[in-house]
Amino acid sequence: MKRKSANQTTVDNKTQYDVIVVGCGGWGLAVLKVLTDMGLRVLGIERKEICNNLRHYMKHMMMHSYLSYMVLDPEDAILAREGNEYHPQIDELIQSYSDFAVKFDLPIKTHHELVDIEGAKGDFVLAVRDGEGRTSRLMAKRVVLATGSYDQPNLAGIPGELNGSVQHYFQEWEHISDQRILFMGGGFSSADGIVALCPRNTILWVVRKSSDAVEDMLHLQKTKWGQHDARLVNTEILTESQVISLENNTAVVQTPDGQKTWDFDLCYMLFGHRPDQDIYTRLLNGNLDFVEETFESCQRPGLYLVGALAKKHLEHIGLTHNLCPDNEGERYIERIQTAMQKEFGRNCQQINLPLTTDH
Ligand SMILES: Cc1cc2nc3c(=O)[nH]c(=O)nc-3n(C[C@H](O)[C@H](O)[C@H](O)COP(=O)(O)OP(=O)(O)OC[C@H]3O[C@@H](n4cnc5c(N)ncnc54)[C@H](O)[C@@H]3O)c2cc1C
Repeated sequence: MKRKSANQTTVDNKTQYDVIVVGCGGWGLAVLKVLTDMGLRVLGIERKEICNNLRHYMKHMMMHSYLSYMVLDPEDAILAREGNEYHPQIDELIQSYSDFAVKFDLPIKTHHELVDIEGAKGDFVLAVRDGEGRTSRLMAKRVVLATGSYDQPNLAGIPGELNGSVQHYFQEWEHISDQRILFMGGGFSSADGIVALCPRNTILWVVRKSSDAVEDMLHLQKTKWGQHDARLVNTEILTESQVISLENNTAVVQTPDGQKTWDFDLCYMLFGHRPDQDIYTRLLNGNLDFVEETFESCQRPGLYLVGALAKKHLEHIGLTHNLCPDNEGERYIERIQTAMQKEFGRNCQQINLPLTTDH
């Protein structure tokens, strides 16, 4: 069968879409599939490639669980081969989503970034910038934001943090050796990265946590990856400490015993990630109130949140466990389906979601 690439969709800019879905990670793709099946005229726009966020991580990292809500395809290759208890690796998941987009011919424009939305419910105009910097306008009656919550790295606000030798994601590392590497941050990514890199490099790990907390973290990670015997070699750990400057590839570290300096070739600042708050709050004028049943914005009716962005929002307002407990992510899809059924009424078809909701 001739394979199509997911960005071949030709789009008429004069078309008014029923719904434009912004962001084509797992959730954006799932929503696109559901709304297409409902007979709505939809378009997905994606700033880079499908599942761009997942591409920032090591390709062999495992997901914490099987993401049933994202693979709305009972014939999905991973599902068929491994069953739904399987924890896919990131590269498998990206492949699965890419196949999903092609198989169901999801209408997607990759390398198109949302920069602004004007107008109101029923008559939105989206300003979209393509990979060459050209801006065009797309029209939609409703907009779904699925831009994820891991889109931008958290920064420390210190000098030198944006220079080229400071990285904010821990990605492929096999080629890195004989380097002096500074790790900042006490989370799982740092622990994983240090275990992977310490045999062939010299490492300084600066972490605000206590030494007990660091030990616990390392133990957890080694257990998770089945690396009980992994030893930290060539690694110095400065606990209860923080870096206050990274200028000129020299780290200035504030420790309980005073300031120290350390020259590095490469620094990983792994402080976690956050949604692109700029566009999110600007589009909503800073008003983050949503209708609970549908996640429609109160400030901007016709604009909906789904996926990790919605989860982040729920955490922000302290409602995660009430509205969307862990492993019930598919409720996001049900919400948007219900909302669109209500909005477009008899014009759209009701479909049954092949999802599990009885966890
Ligand atoms: C190792 C690892 C394991 C994980 N395990 C799990 C797990 O078991 N279960 C789970 O639920 N989650 C897990 N996650 C988190 C998972 O990656 C996210 O929950 C999931 O990717 C969120 O999907 P999303 O579609 O909401 O957002 P994303 O995947 O972040 O997708 C958002 C997309 O929107 C695009 N975008 C952003 N801004 C714009 C814009 N202005 N215009 C156009 N496009 C834009 C981005 O480029 C991106 O492609 C894991 C993550 C990692 C790294």
